[in-house]
Amino acid sequence: MAVDLHVHSSASDGTDAPDVVVAKAAEVGLKAIALTDHDTLSGVPMARQAAADLAIELIPGVELSVDHNGVKAHMLAYFVEPTGGPLQAHLARLRAGRAERNLVIVERLNQLGYAITMDDVLRHASGDAVGRPHIADALVEAGYLHERSAAFPSLLGDGGEAYVERDRLTATEAIRLTTKSGGVTSIAHPLTICAEASSLRVMLEELGEVGLAGVEVYYSEHPPAIRSQLADVASDLGLVATGGSDYHGSGKPGLQIGSGHGDLTVPDTVLEELAARRPEAFNTARGSTDTG
Ligand code: AMP
Ligand code: ZN
Ligand code: FE
Ligand code: FE
Repeated sequence: MAVDLHVHSSASDGTDAPDVVVAKAAEVGLKAIALTDHDTLSGVPMARQAAADLAIELIPGVELSVDHNGVKAHMLAYFVEPTGGPLQAHLARLRAGRAERNLVIVERLNQLGYAITMDDVLRHASGDAVGRPHIADALVEAGYLHERSAAFPSLLGDGGEAYVERDRLTATEAIRLTTKSGGVTSIAHPLTICAEASSLRVMLEELGEVGLAGVEVYYSEHPPAIRSQLADVASDLGLVATGGSDYHGSGKPGLQIGSGHGDLTVPDTVLEELAARRPEAFNTARGSTDTG
C-alpha cells in the first residue's frame, strides 16, 4: 500500500483542515500520511482523531526551514509529538519569528504601494504558522495578483522586492533537536537546494554523520530520472529514500494527495525504514498510541 509523507493543512499554509486532509488520504486508499505543516504541530490532534475514525495511520511531523553552511534547505521531522520536547519548544520561537517577519514584509509591501494590512493577511490563515502564502492570498484578495503563486517570483520569493529573511535553525541543530524529541529527519525536495549534484551529495553525507535519516526521493516535482538518481544517492549514503506529494490543497493547484501530479507512489516500506531509525528510547511499536 502507498503512503504520503509530506502533507500540509490549514494549520500552516495548506487550504484543507487537518481532518479534511486525512479524509482525502483515506478516500484515495493511502495506508498512512505524515502531516508536515511548516513550524507547527498544532494540526496533529485533529488529524489524529480523524485518522483513528478512518483507520488510517497518522505520523505527526513538521517541515523546518534550515541552513547548512549558508545553503538553505527544508527538513522534514517525523514522529514528533505536538508538545513536550526541545524541538517543540523551538517551534514556538520560530513561529514568533514568523510573526515579526510578516509585519516587516507587509510594511515593505505598503512602501511598494500594495495597500494590505496584517488583518487582511490573518483572515487567510486559520492556524498558528502564518507566512508568505497567506500574505500572497491577501494580495490576491485585494486584486493585485490573480493567484497565490504569482506573488513569489518578483515580490515574496528569495530575491523579490519584499523578501525578508527569517530565523532558521542550522540543519545540524534541527537534527539534534528532532532526535532529542524522539523523531527522525529527512531533507525535503533536495532539488530546490542547489543544482550541483556533487554539493548536494556532500551536504547529505555531512548531515548523515550527525544523524540525518533520509532524503526525499519520491516527490511530485521530481521526474522519473531524478527519482532514480536520488534513490541511488540515498542507497550509497545509507539514507532512507522518503517521499511525499507536498499537498497544499488549493494552495498548490493540480497536486493530489498521495499521487502528486498523478505519477507518484510512495511504498509503505519507507515508513517502516524510517520508524526503524527512531532513537532507541522512543522506538516502540507504532499504532498503539499513534493512531489511538
Ligand atoms: P514561508 O513559510 O513564509 O517562508 O513561505 C514559504 C512557503 O511558501 C513554502 O514552503 C511554500 O509552501 C510556499 N511557496 C513558495 N514558493 C511558492 C510558489 N511559487 N507558489 C506557491 N507557494 C509557494
Ligand atoms: Zn507550504
Ligand atoms: Fe518545503
Ligand atoms: Fe512542504
